[in-house]
Amino acid sequence: MPDGLEEVLENVRLVLEAVSKGEYCCLRFGLPYVTPGLLASQALCEKRLEYELLGEQEPGAKRASEARKLVEVLLEARRRIPPGAGSFTLSIPVAAVVEGVPVIGRPHAVHVRNGRVAAVVVGKISGRPGRLYPSDKVRLYAYALTLERAGFPMSSGTRLVLAAARDNRSLIALLSGLDLSRVRPVAGDGAALHVLAHDPDLELEMLAPLLAYWRGERQAAVRRGRWCASCPFRERCG
Ligand code: SF4
Repeated sequence: MPDGLEEVLENVRLVLEAVSKGEYCCLRFGLPYVTPGLLASQALCEKRLEYELLGEQEPGAKRASEARKLVEVLLEARRRIPPGAGSFTLSIPVAAVVEGVPVIGRPHAVHVRNGRVAAVVVGKISGRPGRLYPSDKVRLYAYALTLERAGFPMSSGTRLVLAAARDNRSLIALLSGLDLSRVRPVAGDGAALHVLAHDPDLELEMLAPLLAYWRGERQAAVRRGRWCASCPFRERCG
């Protein structure tokens, strides 16, 4: 395993273990952590996410048990990392405490080249794959900041990649044809690749207000838009 990576993966393991043992418990709704996907939903409408969580049975316990499973996934992936500092791609869970909030997620791929993270790839099924929504940015930024806070070597050259496709089959084809040594944006009809640069200041600026909600520092914000038409809570929302 390349120098330094062992220590970074140990940091990730420690956060996952701590979460699974209940050492983090006190975010809103008793959640022990948030995921990049949850933050992306929050960016669409925080009030809707709040209604969804109110309808869940023991959301905190369910997520602690998921963190326990991810410890095993991480240990297995760690055993498969090739020796040396060349170029390789990891499929691992990532975890870190970001501004006092544990964030845990599993990107599709983390590509490492010459000891640095060259690309982080996330996949998504979308009715409009050519569009990059603010919630997509939140998801990518959450992964990037979590990797950085865990200690992964990132730089402004690290590419944040969203692979979006209309259906699962197109997404698998897009991801399997991806050349991570030179990622470029692709604008297709049924599938697209969106590529952003890692910028920790920008990422934190976008995520800080979302994380403040989980620390209980403010109430849920209502965000009205065309998505309200399909919201199951529109009667309650008023
Ligand atoms: S109706 Fe609109 S504003 Fe209200 S919770 Fe649903 S998405 Fe949010």
